[in-house]
Amino acid sequence: MSRRRIIAGNWKMNKTPSEAVELCATLKDLVKNDDVDVVYCVPAIDIVPVANAVKGTNVHVGAENFYIEDKGAFTGEISAPMLKDAGVEYIIIGHSERRDIFGENDILINQKVKKAFASGLKPILCCGESLALRKAGTYTEWIKRQIKWDLDGVSADEVKNLVIAYEPIWAIGTGETATADQAEEVCKMIRETIADMYDAATAEAVRIQYGGSMNAGNAAELLAKPDIDGGLIGGASLKPDFGQIVNA
Ligand code: PEP
Repeated sequence: MSRRRIIAGNWKMNKTPSEAVELCATLKDLVKNDDVDVVYCVPAIDIVPVANAVKGTNVHVGAENFYIEDKGAFTGEISAPMLKDAGVEYIIIGHSERRDIFGENDILINQKVKKAFASGLKPILCCGESLALRKAGTYTEWIKRQIKWDLDGVSADEVKNLVIAYEPIWAIGTGETATADQAEEVCKMIRETIADMYDAATAEAVRIQYGGSMNAGNAAELLAKPDIDGGLIGGASLKPDFGQIVNA
């Protein structure tokens, strides 16, 4: 089975609404590629202007965060129905910055994955190890455990529509990329974990991205690996380089 490539930008807490619209205009002709799913995951306040700016193009809109309830007394939060109504299709869940800075644990991440599917949003579920775990050599067990916790109670049919982003924390925003072989080793292991938890067809269908300092120079080598179906891109998603990654 050939999986459709998915290249997603994670804009993080960058770009005001007017800057976001400018960036969409800058990238518009650079990201054209009918063979790739292109996604801009943007700050909540940029969702509506970005959704308008990319209307009629091949770009899909994603969000960076949401809460598991539909509505109510949750000051400062945003819900899945709100995101859907604004034109959001994808949602990043379990990013290491949400885990480490905002204290999100695997119980909440699992609830978010289930809520996203129940609401018709497609999760981009992030996992990955710290430098300490990489050095200790226990990263494989750590990532397997994250996947098992985060997908507890999620069905095979849902997982077929899931995107998993392998993001070694030591490679995020550091300029230090995992080598293509290091990234492939873990992405392959993630696919095998899905096969063990579900079945071979589900493992074949799930799309697995690499994320961590992916850029115009290293994207082609990473994306050529058999188990790497795309990229989650932070820094380089804010620059024209993103177009080169989409077309790598
Ligand atoms: C990310 O935070 O998802 C990411 C991959 O960032 P960067 O590309 O900047 O390392």
